[in-house]
Amino acid sequence: MNIPIDRLVLPEFQQAGVVLDLLRLDLIHPQVSGNKWFKLKYALADVVRSECPRVLSFGGAWSNHIHALAWAAREQGVEAIGVIRGERPVDLSETLKDAESWGMRLHFVSRGQYRNKTDERFLDELRGLFGGFHLLPEGGSGPRVIDGCREIYQAFDARAYDYLCSACGTGGTLAGLIAGKPEGLKVIGVSALKGAEFLYRDIRQMLSRADVKDPGGWQIQLNDHEGGYARISQELALAMDHFYRYSGIELEPVYTGKVYLSLRRMRDNGELPCGARVLMVHSGGMQGLRGMRAALQKHLTGR
Ligand SMILES: *Cc1c(COP(=O)(O)O)cnc(C)c1O
Repeated sequence: MNIPIDRLVLPEFQQAGVVLDLLRLDLIHPQVSGNKWFKLKYALADVVRSECPRVLSFGGAWSNHIHALAWAAREQGVEAIGVIRGERPVDLSETLKDAESWGMRLHFVSRGQYRNKTDERFLDELRGLFGGFHLLPEGGSGPRVIDGCREIYQAFDARAYDYLCSACGTGGTLAGLIAGKPEGLKVIGVSALKGAEFLYRDIRQMLSRADVKDPGGWQIQLNDHEGGYARISQELALAMDHFYRYSGIELEPVYTGKVYLSLRRMRDNGELPCGARVLMVHSGGMQGLRGMRAALQKHLTGR
């Protein structure tokens, strides 16, 4: 697979003597966007090969994971069930409309019930309703996530960079990027969630379960979440707008916008030295932007 890399011409990075390139995972597939393509690759291959071609997973109304899974499962002839947080609304989100139109069975549960998503008793209840299934955790970071996400490096020469920076939800993608990184490349994750100290533990656990020795040389920015998951600050909205003006490339505010904001702050703090070659990962998620445009616009225009 060939993944394009764009050289970004952003004045604030040029003035600091920092080279910033963008890895366009958002372009690899129209529906299975960005990192989700890599996350689902082996997870679904395992399901296809099994005796039980049914997969169940979890997500919210705008979940990139649910959206990608619905399409990929249909393509592979796998039955997909999406357990969705919250009551079924009268008008489904665009994301869930897509998923349903691709044949995913949507099962809505209350927020309280949703919290039991890893609970064996709750999963047994779901088995009672749907029959046996392969469970893919929320966000799609199952046991094969590292196998898939380390393959992102097959698409470009990572030795041309000093830093690689990518967004973290569950940390599965970052775990793959850590597992596959060449020596000397520093991998930086940016948490989309508030209070995400757990990412260090979870990522180390994913590495060890995949029998990968932690190579070190990675860190997570825990303070660029702008108030929490899917929260937008005015600074974030303005940064994304600036990015679009100079590059013509859109980011979304949940993950990739926060990566850009975090890189700007690192540059301001002198954490990216002059001459640094930085690769920012555009991990996709543009379908979710459909649910965020109004909120973004409000920050830009005050209306
Ligand atoms: C799901 C998602 C992430 C987070 O991936 P994890 O493997 O859960 O850390 C990052 N960026 C985008 C655009 C996503 O959709």
